[in-house]
Amino acid sequence: MEERPISDISYRKFIEEGKLMGSRCRACGKIYHPPRHFCEECFGSDMEWQELKGEGELTTFTCIFVVPPYMAREGYGRDNPYCTGVVTLSEGPRVVARIEGVDARKPESIKIGMPVKAVFLRSGEGEAARTYLAFRPA
Ligand SMILES: [Zn+2]
Repeated sequence: MEERPISDISYRKFIEEGKLMGSRCRACGKIYHPPRHFCEECFGSDMEWQELKGEGELTTFTCIFVVPPYMAREGYGRDNPYCTGVVTLSEGPRVVARIEGVDARKPESIKIGMPVKAVFLRSGEGEAARTYLAFRPA
């Protein structure tokens, strides 16, 4: 049982620890990612942390060739695009995240509905180091 408050800060800490967490309504069982404080389904506010398996399927994706500056610093750009997608988790919630391990130069090779699993990637160094959530083909 996790006693951390349900907040973005707690969520980020879990990601740093390699855990994908959502919140679960104790009244009706609905699971939310990102975690929510109250339930849209039954309007209950008795929520608890729920670790998610990180398994799901690719629901939609886009390959990005014109990249934001922070991705350019990682070496992405017109000649080295990256892929971002929406993953539907096996528990139900949808997550927007980077899709790794696919060829963003060949979008036709990336299949909607393909099984994917969560990976936790490190970027930056020292104080700026952080972990982010991505998905890879399972
Ligand atoms: Zn509920």
